[in-house]
Amino acid sequence: MKCFTHPGADAVAVCRHCGRALCHDCSAEVDGSVACKGNCAARVMLYDDLLTKSHQAYQNAESSAVGDAIYWFVIGGLFILFGVRSDHGDAFWFLGLVLLVTGIRSYIGYREQRKQSKV
Ligand SMILES: [Zn+2]
Ligand SMILES: [Zn+2]
Repeated sequence: MKCFTHPGADAVAVCRHCGRALCHDCSAEVDGSVACKGNCAARVMLYDDLLTKSHQAYQNAESSAVGDAIYWFVIGGLFILFGVRSDHGDAFWFLGLVLLVTGIRSYIGYREQRKQSKV
């Protein structure tokens, strides 16, 4: 196989982006794979960057959804504890239950979203 731009030179790699054969002078290494020096290398780098960023954003959203659920659980639990210890704690009981339900609902919503994104 010969280089796409230099017919006299043997190809050492194939561009990950456009699939052209590349000689040593034409190839550039991008994150462990090879692309045409210049245009394709820049694009591959851009795609990799976008992919990493969107993956990170997804992971951040996931951990904040679970964090929210835990937060509501803890606050709800504290309110219920306070309601049990207090003589007139009915309102705290009720508020604690509402907060617990909010936590459960946000956790269920998060699980549903995960199910849908897997399909
Ligand atoms: Zn290329
Ligand atoms: Zn070449």
